Amino acid sequence: MSQRPIYLDCHATTPMDKRVLEVMLPYFTEHFGNPSSVNHLYGWEAEASVKKARTTIANAINCSPEEIIFTSGATEANNLAIKGIAEAYFNQGQHIITVQTEHRAVLDPCQYLEQLGFEITYLPVKKDGLIDLELLEKSFRPETILVSVMAANNEIGVLQPLKEIGEICQKNQVLFHSDAAQAIGKIPLDVQEMNIHLLSLTGHKVYGPKGIGALYIRRRNPRVNIAPQLHGGGQEKSIRSGTLYTPQIVGFAKAIELALAEIETENKRQSELRNQLQEQLLNLEGVHLNGHLTQRLAGNLNVSIEAVDGAALLLGLQGIVALSSGSACTSTTTKPSHVLKALGHSDKLAYASLRFGLGRFTTSQEIDKVGQRVLDTIKSLRQATIRN
Ligand SMILES: *Cc1c(COP(=O)(O)O)cnc(C)c1O
Repeated sequence: MSQRPIYLDCHATTPMDKRVLEVMLPYFTEHFGNPSSVNHLYGWEAEASVKKARTTIANAINCSPEEIIFTSGATEANNLAIKGIAEAYFNQGQHIITVQTEHRAVLDPCQYLEQLGFEITYLPVKKDGLIDLELLEKSFRPETILVSVMAANNEIGVLQPLKEIGEICQKNQVLFHSDAAQAIGKIPLDVQEMNIHLLSLTGHKVYGPKGIGALYIRRRNPRVNIAPQLHGGGQEKSIRSGTLYTPQIVGFAKAIELALAEIETENKRQSELRNQLQEQLLNLEGVHLNGHLTQRLAGNLNVSIEAVDGAALLLGLQGIVALSSGSACTSTTTKPSHVLKALGHSDKLAYASLRFGLGRFTTSQEIDKVGQRVLDTIKSLRQATIRN
């Protein structure tokens, strides 16, 4: 194990907490029932556990349990929210407002809707990655049916001002969706206070299992209609058919419960480690911080490095540290990160960027080691360039 690289890619996914695994295990074997089986104990047990998990998740974002619809993750929750609203509110208008720095799981459903004739406004961001609220205000049209702005960015960690955005949407009488895949368990989320109508969640970014997520859909003030995107057995109020995945649901709730119990101490601990690494790197000439200095996730650090080749940098660090040069979801393509491009970076600088994602299991020894190795690698690459 000691030979494996240090894991600093917690925006891509997190290891599952052993306390989460523990509560999940009985649901694979003894408590295997289908929560929809209403005629026997196996079904009742499973149903009771799902109900309890639903309540935990609802409490975490201040909604009621009936407003939580389980999905396979945040990708599905975003698709359900965006396409489901587009279909249900088609007669009221075909204009949606979102942001250039959203995750592909928001941008791609929007692009799909564009092909069907919808109009999408992709708001730019300021140099710090935050949206301009005045520009948002000006983007509403009579036919606008939805605003989709993420809570926390998966590349630069920037936290958008949800409460202010919620107020603006409320004033304009337009529904507000937020992708909170990176935010749940890391920042306080309150759908009442923030005037949110739809909120996407996932388990695997918060030390829970992969393959489980949820969409919050508001049921009063106002009641939000959504067109199902999966049809079948009628589970989840016929909004999302398919047998509920009890072990994942139970684990997802446990993961959120643990994260919220430790939210303050963990944010403090992670931001101290992050700041240590940040100071070390920013001390070097030609290293720039991406994203807002303070309105950012505690475990996030994203830097662009001048005068080095991005591919060479990653290669130099490969055996030492597992991290990403952009979004994990786009790292299979050779395109520069659309988020860094939206900050105004050139292709070259976008390529020469590193995203550090610290997490619950990151230690100070690991950060010391990574900091030193990154500095050494940058320096030696720059020297090699001069010699050539
Ligand atoms: C990871 C992520 C997603 C996708 O979530 P899955 O549960 O893996 O489908 C969506 N949005 C953001 C911001 C993410 O970080």
